[in-house]
Amino acid sequence: MSLINSTIVQHQEEGREQLNVLERTQEVIYKALKELGHKEEAYELLKEPLRLLTVRMPVKMDDGTVQVFTGYRAQHNDAIGPTKGGIRFHPDVTENEVKALSMWMSIKCGITNLPYGGGKGGIQCDPRNMSFPELERLSRSYVRSISQIVGPTKDIPAPDVFTNSQIMAWMMDEYSRIREFDSPGFITGKPLVLGGSRGRESSTAMGVTMIMREAAKVVGIKIKGARIIIQGFGNAGSFLAKFLSDQGAKIVGISDAYGALYNPEGLDIDYLLENRDSFGTVTNLFKDIITNQELLIKPCDILVPAAIENQITEENASHIKAKIVVEAANGPTTLKATEVLTQGGILIVPDVLASSGGVVVSYFEWVQNNQGYYWTDEEVENKLEKILTTAFLNVYQTSVNKGIDMRLAAYMIGLKRMVEASRFRGWI
Ligand code: NAD
Repeated sequence: MSLINSTIVQHQEEGREQLNVLERTQEVIYKALKELGHKEEAYELLKEPLRLLTVRMPVKMDDGTVQVFTGYRAQHNDAIGPTKGGIRFHPDVTENEVKALSMWMSIKCGITNLPYGGGKGGIQCDPRNMSFPELERLSRSYVRSISQIVGPTKDIPAPDVFTNSQIMAWMMDEYSRIREFDSPGFITGKPLVLGGSRGRESSTAMGVTMIMREAAKVVGIKIKGARIIIQGFGNAGSFLAKFLSDQGAKIVGISDAYGALYNPEGLDIDYLLENRDSFGTVTNLFKDIITNQELLIKPCDILVPAAIENQITEENASHIKAKIVVEAANGPTTLKATEVLTQGGILIVPDVLASSGGVVVSYFEWVQNNQGYYWTDEEVENKLEKILTTAFLNVYQTSVNKGIDMRLAAYMIGLKRMVEASRFRGWI
């Protein structure tokens, strides 16, 4: 019995659903490879990243003390091409989380047919309690620590939770100094003036909107007039709320790390956008707030978790009233909850598909950097739409044809090319 099989059996026997995020990912990878008819060796290759670098970074703080931060960079598989994935700044970053996130990136790149494998980085820190100069020193230190294993043809980072275009700019500058030539293709999500792509900042949300439109079509819901709840009001959640309300949807719920707002008549998104802080906090503007958990089970047509992991669980899944759950966040739903939602007739559009717009436009940014020729907003949007519509239809059709949920279907499609490339290279 394989390691993962024994883990699954052990957890089933114990009646527990809470596999950690890495084990959860391994479980779906195992099932997807089995469904594709691959041998155990494919699973052995893909169950963990090929490389994981752990770094410890001493950083001078503004008060003169030195704080040592821990960071990671994981590279899942580079059989197809360089690895690609964001860098997260968060106190809860763990090695397992970074590994799992790199594996999800592989699936996203596979579904959208990008010439990349998955990568991911993270630093255990709380940027909300750090000054700009401290963040700059930490960002530059991280690049110096991982510079040997990253680069425009090796592994290309990008923003993720609590990192932004300013942090990408510092990182690009540090890498260019180390290499002694300008290297815009080292990192994506940069400011426009430093080689960023048009549409990159809002690309994840733009992609979620496009995928949601396709999902709504198959379920028979119109976006115009649909009642939508969005958990999280950061980069993904806030742009998404704006795009959807501009399309005539009614955003009835929004949340941040401190609580949630719900109004069946619809929230004033422009007011929230104007008054949020840079970390996507809006609930401090109101007295009458509810909890994030209360928000998830309020009446709506479409629910979009767009904040953090493990929000929809076995406990709350059966109380969810939405007809579609679109996972804009990475890993918001446990596997058991996926089963409960699917059995309840709720269409669940998995993270690896729903939030893949970010990496697609990151790829566009890298292509533009490599060719030194920059595209218009319209070009970016049209190319993104084509890729995501095709990706949605492939995943949806596979799930219908095989009678499986969209998460498993997405993993099957996402892993297929990676196994093929690994085989051609003689790795398996
Ligand atoms: P962000 O840091 O800009 O915003 C995060 C939001 O979540 C904030 O509103 C914050 O207040 C809220 N939040 C934080 N902790 C919370 C908690 N415990 N409960 C409820 N809300 C909480 O991050 P983002 O870039 O918008 O990313 C959100 C999710 O989308 C993450 O899972 C990320 O991995 C995923 N994602 C983002 C991108 C992207 O391009 N930004 C791409 C793909 C996936």
